[in-house]
This record gives sequence, structure tokens and C-alpha cells, in this order.
Amino acid sequence: MNATESRRQFLRQAGLGVAAAALTGPAAAASLSPSVMQDENQKKLGFAIVGLGKYATEQMMPAFKDCKHARITALVSGSPDKARKLAAEYGVDAKNIYSYQNFDSIKDNPAVDVVYIVLPPGLHAEYTIRAAQAGKHVLCEKPMANTPEECQRMIEACKKAGKKLMIAYRAQFEPFNLDAIERIRKGELGKLRMVTADHGRQVQPDKDQADTWRVQKKLAGGGSLMDIGIYSLNAARYLTGEEPVEVTAQEYSDKSDPRFKEVEDVIHFTLRFPSGVLASCTSAYSIEGVKRYRAYGDKAWLDLDPATDYYKHQMKIGDKDGERQPQIKEGNQFAAELDHMAECVMQNKTPKTPGEEGLRDIKLIMAIYEAARKGKPVRV
Ligand code: NAD
Repeated sequence: MNATESRRQFLRQAGLGVAAAALTGPAAAASLSPSVMQDENQKKLGFAIVGLGKYATEQMMPAFKDCKHARITALVSGSPDKARKLAAEYGVDAKNIYSYQNFDSIKDNPAVDVVYIVLPPGLHAEYTIRAAQAGKHVLCEKPMANTPEECQRMIEACKKAGKKLMIAYRAQFEPFNLDAIERIRKGELGKLRMVTADHGRQVQPDKDQADTWRVQKKLAGGGSLMDIGIYSLNAARYLTGEEPVEVTAQEYSDKSDPRFKEVEDVIHFTLRFPSGVLASCTSAYSIEGVKRYRAYGDKAWLDLDPATDYYKHQMKIGDKDGERQPQIKEGNQFAAELDHMAECVMQNKTPKTPGEEGLRDIKLIMAIYEAARKGKPVRV
């Protein structure tokens, strides 16, 4: 019996019938008594959140309320006060709060099935490997790590421990992106010819604590390309469904701007795919927010703007007869991503975005940096 079936059976046995079995998320929670809620929670996998920064606290932790298979059971933080406060807010037992120093003792905690790493990228390899050695499955934020070698070590550590490794590419669980992929695969645009993808924002280390590591090479691995250009790169790959064979790139960073002493600002790169599709992608840390892409076929084009935001995506499709805006229902991409991780563990499936997917992007990012440095195309 899979997890969904077992949950349905559990609800039936609890006398809640078909109507309750059809409910999910907060609606379901609101309709269940505390004892049923407790049993229901026991059917969910326990996640330990490592790093209680901006993304973890503002986006991911609130999304657990919409999860069918995942719940927060432990917190790992360097700030005990913050951890205690969040533990109380999310109903996490105070004995399940860990520091970075005693993190390895999480191996003795059966309440934790999955460790979710939301630290700066320079720390992803260390914590993934420690989590795997503690016998836990790992969900790790993007970019996977600073180098392909680190990615490889993460994959090997999880394989050796017999644990799942998934990279948190939320856009691959987001309904507008999934709809775009489906339309392209079905041939709605005709034969795909080009993709353009742009990601940019103002990085503000003096105003936003979460941006301080983003301008430090050791913690961030690189600049805009590693952090947000990766969305352009990953989108070009999932929209085409192909792997690039050649990259070219140009970079520009104003070295008198203190933000760009260690990491790059603007990068423009092209990807050549085996079918002949060309992708032209950008990322920048010195412009106002952009998170969009457009796929061009020989019959029509499809535009998502924003494409990779948290909410409020918009799709447009255009052809010789004009433009239209398909109506697509927004969904909680964060909860879908967390539930996918839990389902892969419960059903022993390979995640849709495994460590190998993260490694592919990091290898391509290295090739893009090399092409920019050499001013020549790089074969991959
Ligand atoms: P953040 O700075 O707000 O959070 C990082 C956390 O790591 C903080 O709690 C910080 O205290 C902790 N930390 C532990 N050791 C540290 C050290 N040595 N140096 C710096 N911080 C340390 O950053 P964030 O924006 O929340 O990003 C965290 C991760 O999430 C990154 O991998 C980032 O790429 C990813 N992220 C993903 C998305 C997405 O949409 N998928 C969005 C934002 C961030």
C-alpha cells in the first residue's frame, strides 16, 4: 500500500469517511480532532530544518502546513533563542533543537527522516555528508554546492548510506512551469527553436542579512550565476528536455563596486542543444527584479513572466493570430517539493531532481565561467 492509500485507509478507519479523505492541507487539519491530528502527523515524515534564515523561515517552514506527507520535527541553528521561538511556533519538541556542533547526534533521533539543508551553498557539501553519515535522507537547497567535486562527494555519501538525495529545484514542482513544459512537449509551439531566460535582482549586503554571504565567494561559490542564473540555466534544460553540448559566455562586473570584489555581477551565456535549439540566458546582481523566460517554436511562442517567482506567475502564448493568456491554477510549489521528497522516501523512488541534476548544473556553470574567462566557446 502506498502512502496515500494508507492515509486514506487510516482516515476511513478513523470513521471520517470519504469527505474527510478528500480533504488535504489546512482544510483537513481544521476538520480533524486533536487525537486524529496526532495520528495523522505520525503518517508524515519528519524533517529537520538546517539553517533558520530568510528562505527557510519566510517560505519553506510556513509551506509545511500544506504538506500531506511532511512535517517539521527538528531544527538546527546557531541561534538557540531563534530556534526555541520557532520550535514553539511550529510545535517542535524543544529536545529536537540542535546546534551545528551537536548536529551529528541527530542520528539517534527517530523523529527525523529527512534533513533539509537551507544553508549558504559553501556549507551544503559538509552538512549533506554529515546528514547521510547520520543515516538521514537529504533535501538540499540550490545551487547544490560550490564545485562539481563537492557535488560528487555528496552523491557518493548518500549512495553509501543508502539514502535519497534531492536538490530543491522548486520551479520543477510549480504548476505554470509544469504546464509550459507539457505544452512544449506536446508540440503546441511547433518545433522549438530558441529559449531566452533572464534572472536579476539588486543584491544588498548592507541592507539584507541574507545577502551578506551572497557576495563572499567561499560561501556562495560565485555570484549571480550560481544564485539566480541557475534558474535560467535549469529552465533552458527543462524546457528543451535536452542537455547542452556547447556554451559561450561574457561577464561584466564593476570591480569598484564593493559587492563585486569576489563574485560576478552580470553574465550572459548561450547554450547550444543537440537538436539545434539555442538558449540565450542572463543573470545580474545589479538590476531590479527579473525572473522570466520565453520559448520560441516555429508556430508559436510561450512566455512566463514572472516564471520562477514564489507566487503570481503569468503565462502568455502568441502566434500569427495574436496573444492569449491561458488560465492556470496557482499551486504551492514549496509544499509540492517537500511532499515529493517524502513520497520518494516512502515509496523508495528516485527524486525527480536528484543529486545528479544538481551536479549537471554545477558542471555547466563551471563551463560557463570558463567560456567567459577564455572568451571562447566551451564544449561540454
Ligand atoms: P540566509 O542567510 O537568510 O540563511 C542562511 C542561514 O544559514 C542563516 O540562518 C545563517 O545563520 C545560517 N548559517 C550557518 N552557518 C553560516 C555561516 N558560516 N555563514 C553564513 N550563514 C550561516 O540565506 P537564504 O536566502 O535563506 O539562503 C539559504 C539557502 O537557500 C541558500 O542555499 C540559497 O541559495 C537557498 N535559497 C533558495 C531559494 C529558492 O527559491 N529555492 C530562495 C532563497 C534562498
